[in-house]
Amino acid sequence: MLVSPHRTKRPWLGQKETLPPDERPEFDPKCYLCPGNLRANGERNPAYADTYVFENDFAALLPALDGAEPLQQGLLRSERAAGECRVLCFSPRHDLTLGNMDLPSIRRVIDMWGDQIVEVGSRMKWVQIFENKGSAMGASNPHPHGQVWACDYLPSLVAREAACQKAYLESHDQPMLLDLVTQEILAETRIVALTEHWVLLVPFWAIWPFEYLLVPRRHVQRLPDLTGAERDDLAAMLRTGIQAYDKLFETSFPYSMGWHGAPTDGDSHPHWQLHAHFYPPLLRSATVRKFMVGFELLAEAQRDVTPEGAAVRLRSLV
Ligand SMILES: [Zn+2]
Ligand SMILES: [Zn+2]
Repeated sequence: MLVSPHRTKRPWLGQKETLPPDERPEFDPKCYLCPGNLRANGERNPAYADTYVFENDFAALLPALDGAEPLQQGLLRSERAAGECRVLCFSPRHDLTLGNMDLPSIRRVIDMWGDQIVEVGSRMKWVQIFENKGSAMGASNPHPHGQVWACDYLPSLVAREAACQKAYLESHDQPMLLDLVTQEILAETRIVALTEHWVLLVPFWAIWPFEYLLVPRRHVQRLPDLTGAERDDLAAMLRTGIQAYDKLFETSFPYSMGWHGAPTDGDSHPHWQLHAHFYPPLLRSATVRKFMVGFELLAEAQRDVTPEGAAVRLRSLV
């Protein structure tokens, strides 16, 4: 990957501004995720008190294998895929975010994520848990919520991670991401926060300026395998990491985050190490974002700040 010294030092002549404070009510009668409100399909949300899960009213993946016929036409091929999509409300409070909820509430979100992996994973090979936060990342509703998209096959990015981890375990007899964690803790330069059970770092290969990789320090294949102590520690780490983001540009920091754990196909995958990715789009302020354009679209990603520089700034806000 290219890291341009000129680009990292280039004077910035664009806008530098913060957004007006995010003032949302605790309850929004028009929000389709708030307790007791009516959704587009005519169903009414219960008066839920902590977390709430429902099937996505506009699911991109459907359980039945219907829809377009598989295609095999010269160079072109497509296959059918079945799946499920769910919405995960993190809190009944419309005005909160995952980063400013109290620790017991964040812990309940972690437990919900684990339960979804177990339940949906009993039917699907891959259960992708993620959160798109902020309109910059396409979130249509500011109510704190995430999603599950699950499918009966291994998606391409995940299949690539699986192959790399498998090859590494075979040649080194140790899960790749655990070796990475050991190396990064020794180096210290890309670490943002370190707790008894978790490490939060800016990955060496990060292409988004303030990307995070969040990894447990013990070998853990999947979210449901986390112990109670690891879950409590994760709640604190999530809050620390997200609040550092919010402080960086004094805004409710947008991001897309999600969990990668071993596939839920019934097999053991000793090469897999559970981890979360955070991909935030902002570069220089609450409104100046990184665009993946030009050389980056056509040749390769280029960093505007080094991962070490990003880690120093984020670490100072922890
Ligand atoms: Zn709401
Ligand atoms: Zn991953």
